[in-house]
Amino acid sequence: MPFRPRYTGLIDRYRDRLPVNDDTRLISLGEGNTPLLKLNNIPKLIGKDVDIYVKYEGLNPTGSFKDRGMTMAVTKAVEEGSKAIICASTGNTSAAAAAYAARAGITAFVIIPDGKIAQGKLAQAMMHNAVVIQIKGNFDEGMQLVKDVAEHAPVTIVNSINPYRLQGQKTAAFEIIEELGRAPDYHCLPVGNAGNITAHWIGYCEYSSASGDHVTEACAYCHGNCKYAGGAIVGNRPKMVGYQANGSAPFMRGAMVDDPETVATAIRIGHPQSWDMAWKVKEESQGWFDECSDEEILAAQKLLAEKEGIFCEPASATSVAGALRDIQSGKIPEGSTVVCTLTGHGLKDPDIAIKQSSSPVITVDATLDSVRDAIINNLAR
Ligand SMILES: *Cc1c(COP(=O)(O)O)cnc(C)c1O
Repeated sequence: MPFRPRYTGLIDRYRDRLPVNDDTRLISLGEGNTPLLKLNNIPKLIGKDVDIYVKYEGLNPTGSFKDRGMTMAVTKAVEEGSKAIICASTGNTSAAAAAYAARAGITAFVIIPDGKIAQGKLAQAMMHNAVVIQIKGNFDEGMQLVKDVAEHAPVTIVNSINPYRLQGQKTAAFEIIEELGRAPDYHCLPVGNAGNITAHWIGYCEYSSASGDHVTEACAYCHGNCKYAGGAIVGNRPKMVGYQANGSAPFMRGAMVDDPETVATAIRIGHPQSWDMAWKVKEESQGWFDECSDEEILAAQKLLAEKEGIFCEPASATSVAGALRDIQSGKIPEGSTVVCTLTGHGLKDPDIAIKQSSSPVITVDATLDSVRDAIINNLAR
């Protein structure tokens, strides 16, 4: 007898709230159920009485939250008889698409910007045997190509314009509510295409509504896929706060950005696909958008790694960079409960990590004396 049931992925866990039936063959790698870690040291460092939790989505099977959406999108693609999927990607979507396609036994085509995706993500797409198409262009151009080609070839798009993606991703909000016993006061996320901030809002709205279906306008964007079926009811919903990199911040400019640039390649997106929905999320939740510099993003990535032992990729740290600034300024008041989504794992982008690390790598002779000296000289670090 097992002590508790084997965890079999988020569709199985939330099947009554997702568009599947008993006969649906689930394509899962055990995604979801990620840790919600309370920060211990950073709140003390900034001297603010705020409960900050990070939802460590880097611990999904392919190392990012994209797995939540991909398990749903590929499950539905297979159910509908599709033999191939396609996506444009800044890296993590392609890694997830490649892995779930391998699991399902279908083909993945991934379109990525030449030279602008992190090493780890490229390795994943290649290792899972996706067909990698590098374009001499950015994500936004790749996205347009995917939309165009899907009209001429038998492939299912698995970018977040595929409504099943957001359905899978909304489960992160369910998990947070079930662990905290309520929704947080603020939920902070990095924003690229703005699918994830929208998905979280759908999740919070479904959970907070007594009656269920389509309680808000943003929720209506689930394209009829809501199947809220009761369960725990929580009264509150968070203010949704979306942070962008300042070289890639269309929500701050109020218009699309044609040449987005940032060290946080996962959010190097100038033409967000969920533009209208994300504005609705901001309004309905009474949240806001803001932007962070690359320096702030990297500093937050380093702070999490050095002070909390949590390694996330640069884009992910944008949520914490922005939240810490808003906590320090009092825009997020003391006494608040804040959740920041850490969207992807730090190992995705080892180049950036090594480049900005201040950790000494000391080369010494292989003798007791020199190793002992190296220890004595660095004890105070
Ligand atoms: C995809 C991604 C984002 C952006 O999410 P959107 O839904 O496009 O806003 C942020 N961080 C990481 C690590 C990602 O992979």
